[in-house]
Amino acid sequence: MDRWPLGIFTSIGGGLGAGLDAVRRLGVKTVQLHAPDGSWRSAERCRDTRRQFADSGITVTVVFVGFPDDDYTTIDSVQRTVGLVPAASRPDRLAETLAIAGYARELGVDAIGMHLGFVPTSHDDPERAAVIAATRQVCDHCRTLGQRFHLETGQESADELRAFITEVDRDNLAVNFDPANMILYGAGEPLAALDVVGPWVHSVHCKDAARQRQPGQPWYADAPLGTGDVNVAAFLARLQRLGYYGPLTVEREYSPDQAGDLEAALRLLGDLRDRLLGAL
Ligand code: MG
Repeated sequence: MDRWPLGIFTSIGGGLGAGLDAVRRLGVKTVQLHAPDGSWRSAERCRDTRRQFADSGITVTVVFVGFPDDDYTTIDSVQRTVGLVPAASRPDRLAETLAIAGYARELGVDAIGMHLGFVPTSHDDPERAAVIAATRQVCDHCRTLGQRFHLETGQESADELRAFITEVDRDNLAVNFDPANMILYGAGEPLAALDVVGPWVHSVHCKDAARQRQPGQPWYADAPLGTGDVNVAAFLARLQRLGYYGPLTVEREYSPDQAGDLEAALRLLGDLRDRLLGAL
């Protein structure tokens, strides 16, 4: 694969044709894929999906796990509901995560990703130990499938994330670095954070966010790439310094003109890539 292939975060749950058409129109060769619901995971549908991506020359680089009752409305609701942190739903969600890893394997994808949630930081909290145990189970299952498990950044500082990864102690545990999330969650300065967790970064979201919030703007609202407080050129330069040349995956979640924003983001990344890698 070329260095820094461009990509987008996409979904097939709303209909593979529509999803793939949009990806083809944008001309990208990589995608991260939201895991579709169980109805998409039969052997036959997996084969169809895999073939359609392959026929289009598109590589799925990470399958992202989410849960229907994850609630991103407020940071408080994220703390209560997201990922493998909520104790009551952890067993079911763990089983679902392992099933999605199997689905990703059927698609030939060697990584799954997830917002793990707000992991308790106190080492005396038994829930921290329980989340670590669950994370090890995911890693160990992924290991049997030849996969990595990527943690989405943002819900904790880079130092906390590094401490967590070190404690889990599995070499297929990795980071999906999202610089905008660091701003949105108030989890620290993104570029400094990248230096802290850089050795574990195996995928990135190219997403932007403005620190200055507009009146009435939800906390999670992102910004068109290049218009927020992530310095995208500096972000790529840091990735280059780290030796990260994997996919640059655009994530644009809340936009009145998502297609236009995605095109503009891909142009920006293409220009920066050419400049930084010296290609013409
Ligand atoms: Mg993200």
